[in-house]
Amino acid sequence: MTKDYLNRYLFDGVSVRGELVQLGNTYQQIISSTEYPAPVKNLLGELLVATSLLTATLKFEGSITVQVQGDGPVSLAVINGDQNQNLRGVARWEGDVKEGSSIHDLMGKGYMVITIIPTQGERYQGVVGLEGDTLAECLEAYFKNSEQLRTRIWLRTGEFEGQPKAAGMLLQVMPDGQGSESDFEHLETITDTVKNEELFGLEAQDLLYRLYHQEEVKVFEPQEVNFECGCSRERSGSAVISLHPDEIEKILAEEGKVSLHCDYCGTDYDFDSIDIAALRENATEADDNQVH
Ligand SMILES: [Zn+2]
Repeated sequence: MTKDYLNRYLFDGVSVRGELVQLGNTYQQIISSTEYPAPVKNLLGELLVATSLLTATLKFEGSITVQVQGDGPVSLAVINGDQNQNLRGVARWEGDVKEGSSIHDLMGKGYMVITIIPTQGERYQGVVGLEGDTLAECLEAYFKNSEQLRTRIWLRTGEFEGQPKAAGMLLQVMPDGQGSESDFEHLETITDTVKNEELFGLEAQDLLYRLYHQEEVKVFEPQEVNFECGCSRERSGSAVISLHPDEIEKILAEEGKVSLHCDYCGTDYDFDSIDIAALRENATEADDNQVH
């Protein structure tokens, strides 16, 4: 698998929908922006898969941000994705993060915030405590509270052929009210048998066939998933000149340049006094153009 994909599927005659996401490059780019401890990489991977699965449920243009915050060694982990499955993310941590840490060891007393931002319309924000032993269980609780739809989520991270991988699946009862408990439980039991090496190494079609060969499954066109930061020199420049002029002068006097670091992709943007003069010039011209 050279590209990352999200697959959505339906079961014939059963009101349950499914999603499968398998990530290599997207995950690798997110965890390579800085030297994350292994448990933080895993957490980011699970959050990444979760956000991709959630973003696939968007019925409009917009983005979803899933973040966990707490008072543990990891204060924040956040992933943001849009309806085109462009994702980015970052985590902040302090001190020692032990191998094999659970989400509670990492986050301490924490909560999860899910923010849905439509390109047009009102934003929605849901907050749930980190209840449950895993991130997947916390998300299942979120769905139960917010959408009242029975949902199961599988989130896995690991390595396949020496490469970091993150993958996951989702099963959800359709909102039409036709999905029966026993149908859902049957599919849940089957999906629960999925192995990491299948999730990381099999093509989606093969994996879905292997799991659900006794069911009638309709698989939609796969959607490509990509890492996209969205930062640029232009945006960073606008942020720099929005600082107070005295502040800019102070930094220039001390450092010789104003530097902005993008936490999502690790890029540094440097602006010296000549760059800043040019930015101000352009900003003034843009203002003039707006007036006329
Ligand atoms: Zn960036």
